[in-house]
Amino acid sequence: MNAEIIAVGSELLLGQILNSNARFLSQKLAEMGINVFYHTVVGDNGGRLEQAIEIAEKRSNLIIFTGGLGPTKDDLTKETIAKHLKTTLVMDDVALTSIMQYFQKSGRPVTENNKKQALVLKNAQVLPNDHGMAPGMVYETAKHTYMLLPGPPKEMEPMFSIYGSQALYDRMSDIERIHSRVLRFFGIGEAQLETEVEDLLEAQSNPTIAPLASDGEVTLRITAKHASLHIAEQMIEEVEAKILARVGQYCYGKDQTSLIEEVVKELKGKNLTISSAESLTGGLFQQELTSISGASQVFKGGIVSYSNEAKMKLLHVKAETIEQYGAVSEQCAKEMADGVRAQLGADIAVSFTGVAGPDELEGHPVGTVFIGISCSKNGTQAFKYQFGSSREQNRIRSFKNGCSLILKNLLKY
Ligand code: ATP
Repeated sequence: MNAEIIAVGSELLLGQILNSNARFLSQKLAEMGINVFYHTVVGDNGGRLEQAIEIAEKRSNLIIFTGGLGPTKDDLTKETIAKHLKTTLVMDDVALTSIMQYFQKSGRPVTENNKKQALVLKNAQVLPNDHGMAPGMVYETAKHTYMLLPGPPKEMEPMFSIYGSQALYDRMSDIERIHSRVLRFFGIGEAQLETEVEDLLEAQSNPTIAPLASDGEVTLRITAKHASLHIAEQMIEEVEAKILARVGQYCYGKDQTSLIEEVVKELKGKNLTISSAESLTGGLFQQELTSISGASQVFKGGIVSYSNEAKMKLLHVKAETIEQYGAVSEQCAKEMADGVRAQLGADIAVSFTGVAGPDELEGHPVGTVFIGISCSKNGTQAFKYQFGSSREQNRIRSFKNGCSLILKNLLKY
């Protein structure tokens, strides 16, 4: 299948909203092994939409539309497609009942244009809308498959994930089914990782290996095509084992996860607790940690000690330490971590002190960061980093490196 996504909506052309639907669908279709060769955006105009359909039909056999399924006059996607395909729209009873029920519940009268949302292309497969009123649909001709999805992402995304993708799988031959796994790396650059696995990348055909770098992390997506899920998983595992034999020490997780999720998972698994003392990160570590459900089982609490006074008063960092070495120092990072661990009685504590920027501090250039780890098993250590000039990036990189250090320490428990 070669797909084209047509996003309908004048607000997209006016720059009022981003075409995030195309991005979402492209990612999902790539995961399914369907090639997307074109994205088209067209305004709420029947004539131009029909032209876009004619062009798409010449180069793609799967055409996915988003938007224009709503109740108002400018919502004309299905009407235009019906006219183009010389078919009619019929009332879908299930969709109509759900629209009527929605209005009954909210105590408002249902208007004719709202009922119009339940009209679908005759003989189309209807995709239920669990989060809104307009149903989606899949319509087939000898040469093309047309999928119509609503515009609002909160309706379109679950509709595609639950019903749309299945409708496509049902139309694909077995051999096209694909399975993939993502390996997540931290502490190794994209170029170095690629060099380490270069021969595997060059030899790839099935499974394929695709590297992607973002936010200081690198992922490798291994994708296998096979009719049997079991065999595809074996194929993935063979490649994964080869990759991990070379760069396994940098791999912190697989598929949908993050450094902080792994930290919480590991702490929970080992029945350990954590606390944090934060200067330049200003609570970022605590914020990210508490965004993970179940954090309460492992997080004792933290102290944001931005000023030297707070470091001394709340964490008992010695005045001599700050005088002799400065607040941005290995010694201070160690005392901050020890201080917060003692105050809160945690098994492990992490501390962050450094120069986020834009100005230098204590003679250190912007981006100098010390991360301390105080650990019931391994004692106290601090590590120096030299990041870049962006304040925000320095805070994020500190947070991520802190997570990575915690994970390394947790290996020893
Ligand atoms: P509605 O019932 O809300 O009218 P609809 O299917 O007719 O749904 P549109 O009217 O085209 O969809 O768009 C409704 C809203 O959905 C837009 O105002 C916008 O917020 C969002 N939306 C539409 N298309 C996209 C897109 N391609 N990417 C991201 N958001 C979109």
